[in-house]
Amino acid sequence: MSSFEDAIGPEKIVQVYDPITKMEGILVIDNTALGPGKGGVRMVPDISTQEVFGLARAMTWKNSLAGIPFGGAKSGIRSPPTNGVMKAAFVKAFAKKIATLVPEEYIPGPDMNMGEAEMKIIADTIGTPKAATGKPASMGGLPHELGSTGYGVFLSTLVALEHRKMPVDGATVAIEGFGNVGTFTMKFLTEKGAKVIAVSDSKGTVYLQSGLDYEMLMRTKQEKGTVTAYPGATVLPASQLFGITCDVLVPGARPDVINVGNAHHVKAKIIVEAANIPMKPEIEHDLTKKGILVVPDFVANAGGVISSYVESIGGTKEEMFSMVKEKITANTRLVLERAKNGDLRAAALEIAEERVIAAMEKNSECGSGTRTKAHQFISQPMKTFS
Ligand code: NAD
Repeated sequence: MSSFEDAIGPEKIVQVYDPITKMEGILVIDNTALGPGKGGVRMVPDISTQEVFGLARAMTWKNSLAGIPFGGAKSGIRSPPTNGVMKAAFVKAFAKKIATLVPEEYIPGPDMNMGEAEMKIIADTIGTPKAATGKPASMGGLPHELGSTGYGVFLSTLVALEHRKMPVDGATVAIEGFGNVGTFTMKFLTEKGAKVIAVSDSKGTVYLQSGLDYEMLMRTKQEKGTVTAYPGATVLPASQLFGITCDVLVPGARPDVINVGNAHHVKAKIIVEAANIPMKPEIEHDLTKKGILVVPDFVANAGGVISSYVESIGGTKEEMFSMVKEKITANTRLVLERAKNGDLRAAALEIAEERVIAAMEKNSECGSGTRTKAHQFISQPMKTFS
């Protein structure tokens, strides 16, 4: 028994070691009531069971709320000490060790330091394209470059604006980060008439009250390596993005960027969390009390996992965009309806938990016994791991 077991999971904690390559890995399958555990594989030097479990539990809630038939899981491989050849050997060794669980109980996907090349190794080693998502397009993959997560953030933003009876046309937006998620969020929002007045990257914030042009910002980032080289705009420190007066603020890069030190500077009416954990729940709570609508990360940024699901059933890019639209729009609306007191995170967790518990009950021969036990657990404060 480990210290973090509760009425939801984890169902399996698998620690693997390959004596030939010296690869060490951990897989946590948290809960499979809704379907096979889905979550990325990360490769970092200091992976721990606690970290992998926290991430697996987050996937249980995210997949449940997304409304896709996936449970929650996550895995990690300790980084190899040397080069790319060793990395490939580690990934192959890990895939062999977990092969008996894939894809029935666990479906890997990309995460930190793991991309489409590594997903191809996993699929090839296990011998089926169903063994991983995030594979190259040539293997039937739906790569992140299609912008599924940014598209979902955009859709969640539309619902939030509609809820606040604010038109998207002319709405002012500030976006932290101009990578995969930030660029697509800006693209889709500007296509709908929103005015993106500030964008940041690791070098700083670029600010232009009349609105930044998406194509020019993309060119600037590609040619000069930073958004701050955008011609004719004001350059501010990256941290000042969060205090800009705007209708919508999209934190889309780093964790814990809105915190006790700067939350009182936030002037946005709506915050849509594109990054994972851009602020702690207590900060969300404080901002909500000030009248700011905060759409939580696992509601707004689930486009990527929905894309993984479409890939896992062999769907096309068009089917992916259509499912992201349908689910993110419906789920954001559902969470807004449930959150009578404005606490969207609590409402979203409640919905996610209810779906998992209902599936556990359905799958269980004991029926109501499971319900009682699980409800005892969820009536207590959530354990959080990061
Ligand atoms: P990315 O690596 O493509 O882009 C990250 C961007 O953040 C870059 O533009 C970088 O310059 C910028 N950045 C780095 N440090 C910064 C700083 N201090 N201030 C401002 N900008 C900074 O990453 P991504 O895929 O766009 O992911 C962004 C966030 O969204 C992460 O938190 C990630 O976990 C989360 N997320 C991503 C996906 C996805 O499908 N890509 C899905 C769910 C959640």
